[in-house]
Amino acid sequence: MQDSTITIIPLQTAKFEAPNISHELVQILQESIASDKKILIFYARRGNARAWICGDCGHYEKCHHCDIALAYHTHPKKCLICHHCGYKAPFPIVCPECQGSKIDGVGVGIQQIEENLIKILGKDTRVLRIDGDTNEKTEILYENIDSHNIVLTTQIGWSIVHPGIWVVVYLLFELNLSLPSYHIEEDIYNEISYHKKQKLPIFIQTYTPEHPLLREIMDGNTKSFLAYLSRERKDFLYPPFAELATIRVHDEQKKKVEDIMRKLINKIGILKKETTFFAFDTDIYEKSHGEYQQKIVLKDKDLSYLLSELEVEIVRNRSVTLEWN
Ligand SMILES: [Zn+2]
Ligand SMILES: [Zn+2]
Repeated sequence: MQDSTITIIPLQTAKFEAPNISHELVQILQESIASDKKILIFYARRGNARAWICGDCGHYEKCHHCDIALAYHTHPKKCLICHHCGYKAPFPIVCPECQGSKIDGVGVGIQQIEENLIKILGKDTRVLRIDGDTNEKTEILYENIDSHNIVLTTQIGWSIVHPGIWVVVYLLFELNLSLPSYHIEEDIYNEISYHKKQKLPIFIQTYTPEHPLLREIMDGNTKSFLAYLSRERKDFLYPPFAELATIRVHDEQKKKVEDIMRKLINKIGILKKETTFFAFDTDIYEKSHGEYQQKIVLKDKDLSYLLSELEVEIVRNRSVTLEWN
């Protein structure tokens, strides 16, 4: 087996054969297929968290309070929302970074990527798509890898190990980064490190080749990465530098969720200290697992004073769940 090497393909100056598919990448894919090496391609699109990203420059908007990417919502109207604190921003008319107009959500979906790959590489190319929309059981899909050239997957396929796979491709690095989670950089680092350990050549397409996280990934120095992470967390008051509590209110009845939320918001408003970061969803954005859901986010150096006051509401109520880290 060969040593793992990471190659960055900068997209700012790239020639494209289709959206997110650069000319340079096509050559790599063609060579791999010609020498019978299977390719694992990642195109991040996790759950119903929809990323918003500029199709021209890869820019994405972050929440000013939480430093995580804003998610794209179309209901009740198009806007960007922080899934962490509920901060809402209007949907941009042009990209704030490059003034480009290719800004409709994530641009292309994974199915369109699949179609374009076949169009470019020829109709004999066998692409196996594994994502939330493919219904077959994961085990059956894995058995199918043998008869395909390319495995195209979202995060759900990140731990695929198959002796035939020789090349790993991240189609758009920013798409991973723009997933709304405060530990997303850690997730990406672990994921790419995992593939490095398989000793496979890795190709990463990106509009931000200078991104500090990419540098950490290339260096592969865990200690230095942890220092980097710790600086970011300190700046934006995340664990372990602060306590973070998410109170989720969920019920089949919309009114019950609204009533409980109102009570909790009032109580926290009275009890909270000046230093406590306090934010909540102002609307019910989507039904999840058949229930309406709204959440409250609290951050402070010490939250125990507040959470002990809320214990009755949290423990007694089946519709209230607390996540505390
Ligand atoms: Zn842009
Ligand atoms: Zn936020």
